[in-house]
Amino acid sequence: MPPRPQTKLICPLVCSDPAGMKAAMADAKALGADAVELRLDYLAQPPTAEDLRALLADAPLETIVTCRPTAEGGRFDGDEAGRLALLHQAAELGADWIDLEQAAGPTDLPPDRTILSRHDFAGCPADLDELAAGLDASPAAVNKVAFAAAGPEDALRAFDVVRRCRKPTIALAMGEPGVISRVLARKIGAFGTFAALSAGAESAPGQPALEEITGLYRWERLGAQTTVCGVIGCPVGHSMSPAIHNAAFAATGLDAVYVPLLIQPGEEPFRRFLDAVRQRPWLNWRGLSVTIPHKENALRYVGPEHCDELARKIGAVNTITFEPDGTLRGDNTDYAAAIDALCEAMGVARTGLSGRGVAVLGAGGVSRALVAALTHYGARVTIYNRTVDRGEALAAEFGCSAAGREGLADLAAEIVINCTSLGMHPHVDRSPLEAIAPCVKVVFDTVYNPIDTLLLRRARQAGCTCVTGVEMFVNQAAGQFEAWTGHQAPRDVMREVVLGRLTRI
Ligand code: NAP
Repeated sequence: MPPRPQTKLICPLVCSDPAGMKAAMADAKALGADAVELRLDYLAQPPTAEDLRALLADAPLETIVTCRPTAEGGRFDGDEAGRLALLHQAAELGADWIDLEQAAGPTDLPPDRTILSRHDFAGCPADLDELAAGLDASPAAVNKVAFAAAGPEDALRAFDVVRRCRKPTIALAMGEPGVISRVLARKIGAFGTFAALSAGAESAPGQPALEEITGLYRWERLGAQTTVCGVIGCPVGHSMSPAIHNAAFAATGLDAVYVPLLIQPGEEPFRRFLDAVRQRPWLNWRGLSVTIPHKENALRYVGPEHCDELARKIGAVNTITFEPDGTLRGDNTDYAAAIDALCEAMGVARTGLSGRGVAVLGAGGVSRALVAALTHYGARVTIYNRTVDRGEALAAEFGCSAAGREGLADLAAEIVINCTSLGMHPHVDRSPLEAIAPCVKVVFDTVYNPIDTLLLRRARQAGCTCVTGVEMFVNQAAGQFEAWTGHQAPRDVMREVVLGRLTRI
């Protein structure tokens, strides 16, 4: 098969008037697009021949003309003959490409400038392979398939289509779960991918903005050899991890990209995606961050025997590493991140925690990771939790003490760690402690938004050493980066990204 031409970054223009569309072409070029898709179906009135001539004459970028009917997810609800006449006119006026739906049947549009398209908004077609083969056998120069994604594994099916087709192909899994089909299109060698002029100007669900694809994902750097990492979660759209890890890859010059992966709760959806990745070694998948609600699924999938000891004790894996021999490794960088943030501030090694009294406030997921690690390193832990039974159960599991929140009045620990959500945005005027007892020397608040919580302000006033949740956040990302790349993480860059994001919230 001849080498594929460079994947085009196509900006769909969804303006309601031709003058706006003309102006948007220049904006798309300035933002790094290679081509524009003129969505004639978004124009308030069907364009006149003059409108089309003005749009296509001296276009600053390659042009694709599309007039999508409502039945295929577009906005054109006029008659089919009129629609086809518009497409013919656009071809005569010099459009580089015409998008024609397969359902339109045979036409006399120039096949060497036709993109033959299929759209399915219900889901991934059961007969995707045959459908793609049908497009590939047509006289049109380019194939396009777009379907709604149920999970990110559907994006991998779209990649299979691109790789199998003889002709240049666009294959997209629409919606948030399929966003990697758009971001990684260049790695896979697709004919093109679509990126919106700005957030809110998408022509299909899941489309990233041009600035996002060129900036965050470093489009220009993506290639067949690019290593892929990502974050699995539900929800995942607000995760800071893509910004942190992509900035770290950029700062270290690594040929790697980090993507969001929306996977519905449950072991089965998690397993489906992991299995699909492992069946495709050409993806060069290297690492996964795992967040709520999949950390327990990750431990089960990787297998406890391939996970670090504390990850097994905690019962949760937040980091999966794909080893070169195809095996997986599971780690928990949450506990390491927290414990190292604490030890660094105290100027001690992990073993230096042995024998020290620690009050852990809360008994949820973060508390569990910390209690496991603190007891592992010999600290004397007391858990204080609102729901006493929950605190007692956690304490029983790790051999420490528990009390209700009223027990805080008698707190006698050198170190206090807040693992509750008290003080978190937007309830920034709350604190899990009303006063800092004189015995307390170190206060660590795992809450990172805001960075400076009321608890930390009180602790500072009382002369305590303070540890912020940001340090823990940066540490867990840095631990993942190091597990996947073997390089030292650019912590300052990562911290800057976190702080930049938090000050904007
Ligand atoms: P979680 O599993 O939902 O546990 C929340 C804990 O907070 C529970 O112990 C809960 O007590 C307690 N709590 C909630 N509201 C309370 C209230 N009004 N009064 C007293 N106690 C209350 O959450 P998680 O995943 O462990 O996360 C806990 C905190 O860690 C989050 O708020 C977040 O800020 C922080 N965090 C930090 C990082 C980082 O990298 N820095 C990462 C993740 C999370 P009950 O058992 O009584 O419900």
